[in-house]
Amino acid sequence: MDWNGILIGGAWRRTDATIPVIDPSHGGEIARIARGGAAEVDAAVTAAEAALAGSWGRMTALERGRLLARLSAAVLDNIDEIARIEAADVGKPLRQARADVVACARYFEFYGGAADKIHGDTIPYLDGYTVMTLREPHGVTGHIVPWNYPLQIIGRSVGAALAMGNACVLKPAEDASLSALFLTRLACDVGIPDGALNVVTGYGEEAGAALAAHPGVHHVSFTGSVEVGRLIEAAAARNTIPVTLELGGKSPQLVFADADLDAALPFVVNAAIQNAGQTCSAGSRLLIEDAVYDVFVARVAERFRALRAGPAERDLDLGPVVNARQKERVEGFVARARADGLPILAEGSIVPDAPKGGSYVAPVLVGDVPPDHALAQDEVFGPVLSAIRVRDEAHALEVANGTAYGLVAGVWTRDGGRQLRLARKLRAGQVFVNNYGAGGGVELPFGGVRSSGFGREKGFEALYGFSTTKTVALKHD
Ligand code: NAD
Repeated sequence: MDWNGILIGGAWRRTDATIPVIDPSHGGEIARIARGGAAEVDAAVTAAEAALAGSWGRMTALERGRLLARLSAAVLDNIDEIARIEAADVGKPLRQARADVVACARYFEFYGGAADKIHGDTIPYLDGYTVMTLREPHGVTGHIVPWNYPLQIIGRSVGAALAMGNACVLKPAEDASLSALFLTRLACDVGIPDGALNVVTGYGEEAGAALAAHPGVHHVSFTGSVEVGRLIEAAAARNTIPVTLELGGKSPQLVFADADLDAALPFVVNAAIQNAGQTCSAGSRLLIEDAVYDVFVARVAERFRALRAGPAERDLDLGPVVNARQKERVEGFVARARADGLPILAEGSIVPDAPKGGSYVAPVLVGDVPPDHALAQDEVFGPVLSAIRVRDEAHALEVANGTAYGLVAGVWTRDGGRQLRLARKLRAGQVFVNNYGAGGGVELPFGGVRSSGFGREKGFEALYGFSTTKTVALKHD
């Protein structure tokens, strides 16, 4: 496949300037993608406007849903190839890459099925009036996607936006564009009309910034860093358009003395190291009640020591992190923890024959981390778990809510009252009780509060976010 391609109005264009694609398992170049900028974004927005004025804009919800269902099937038909591409592009172990493909297909299936089930209301009003609400698409939606779960994030945002009848301009991350390009080709193959889905690859400061600031865009969905999220919000404010921001977190997993520790253990470890810790909802803080701290942290440490990182195609516990810059960033956090005298409780390993140019980071368990330390406050986005000793429920809640973030929280306890109290008091967009992540949960509204962002994706909530309500009041006698 020729990876130098930008899709505008159903036609692929090449650019002279390109961006190298590096496989983080070995550090070598495997492809080059197009380096789109403001001109390509402008053309993509124009193509999206034309699609809205044309057949896409007139298509029934039922037909849109059927197209998305077809796309879902096409994604699954190509699971091996997409997983292989994703593993090479971002370093995901193959089984994680396959899980991402399955989730992506599930988003298109879910939103395909939901497309014709979103409807307005009739509202009892004054005598002589009939009042109804209509759910309408925003128009042109911009989707700026990060590199950690490209397929899932495209599925959840573009899937929902298309289901509602928006025309999309997608800007994948410069470190993770290949699966997006493959997916877009499938979208063309299954008959998504020209201009309904456009893709501009390129750098964030060029294509991304141009998309966020474009006056023809009516909604922007962004997932990524807090810093860039604020730039997106500022750009959108200049055009007075809504944004959905999903900016990661420092999510706590609370383990109490009465918990089923055997059940908690695999969840706790996986929540920290899945995708080499590069997960916005990673459970990167482990708050353990004093009475079981030593025994539970020892069990987590034992698991960490057995973890192995290696090339994506070896399908080990962890692949490399996405690039050398991310490796440096993660290692910087660990170096600081060591310099500050924090105990490194356990370290996993990097397989000895891992290619030297790969971006490997061994998973690390650190504890007891003071709640105000950077390791307990900042998003590392790597396989680093901070264990924190807490005295009791009140202290656990105070520490859990004591960061700038609020994306996800996990609670492990058998006490039903505590489960409900904490579900209400934890500051997060999702709370999991005696599980973590609920297997991804395409159906479950997802998003944060405070620095984790705002707006909800996944589930039906996303369809509300990608549409607007119009009230129609008819006066008659
Ligand atoms: P980022 O926020 O820079 O990139 C995310 C997306 O935004 C990419 O598509 C990028 O091209 C685009 N972008 C970058 N600058 C832009 C700009 N000025 N205008 C418009 N779009 C722009 O993330 P990163 O640099 O790749 O990663 C840095 C840190 O961000 C990570 O270490 C992690 O902490 C966090 N992160 C969080 C998530 C998440 O899921 N919440 C995902 C990726 C990264």
